[in-house]
Amino acid sequence: MNATLANLSRRSLVRWTLAGSISALAGPAFAGADPHAGRGGLTPDQALERLRQGNQAFASDHPLPASQGSERRHQLAAGQTPMAVLVSCSDSRVPPEIVFGRGLGELFTIRVAGNTIDTTALGSIEYAVEHLGVPLVVVMGHERCGAVSAAAEVVERNAHFPGAVGAMLQPIIPAVLAARAAHPEGDVVDQSVRENVRQVVQHLRETASPALLERQASGALRVVGARYDLDDGVVDFFDIGEA
Ligand SMILES: [Zn+2]
Repeated sequence: MNATLANLSRRSLVRWTLAGSISALAGPAFAGADPHAGRGGLTPDQALERLRQGNQAFASDHPLPASQGSERRHQLAAGQTPMAVLVSCSDSRVPPEIVFGRGLGELFTIRVAGNTIDTTALGSIEYAVEHLGVPLVVVMGHERCGAVSAAAEVVERNAHFPGAVGAMLQPIIPAVLAARAAHPEGDVVDQSVRENVRQVVQHLRETASPALLERQASGALRVVGARYDLDDGVVDFFDIGEA
């Protein structure tokens, strides 16, 4: 380990220790039997299974009774231990809590058109993982995404989107180019939706930040990719990495 990495690790350890102390004061901590369990008591795999079950119930028109009453609200007022970070699109048809049948305090959501991550989003993810002990990050695109469709128009028809929209689309352009190259005959928008998710997932798995990399290496954190189908309501976890 070189000096820079060693310093980074020491800083991370100090931050982690401080974060643990702060969180212990802020909310309930659960001593899970599994060493990979997050602060809420679930391992990455258990959190993923909860999301799968909630989505199956939602898609079959038997949604889980999401906890959102006053008792739960009062319980959470002292602190939160969400089971997953959801990086998803702002699209009004894709609300994570409803799609996964979750209630108050269960999902830490980051929503932006096209489900990309900038510095603010990455900082939010780091906060959730380091300070709240979240064991799972889901990056979720969706069918017929308007932001991805617009990025495809930029690539295919040289479309121009004025104002901040054009800049917002820029991170999606590499995904469209990669999807076109890999699937020249395919549905460019749908392939780009999946490729965009893959690229964000890869960024979080390989290059994003030391804090995220360390926890993934130890098994305490898992990053997965998914696509939501607008028609049947099913979430396809298509890029789940190593179990
Ligand atoms: Zn969208």
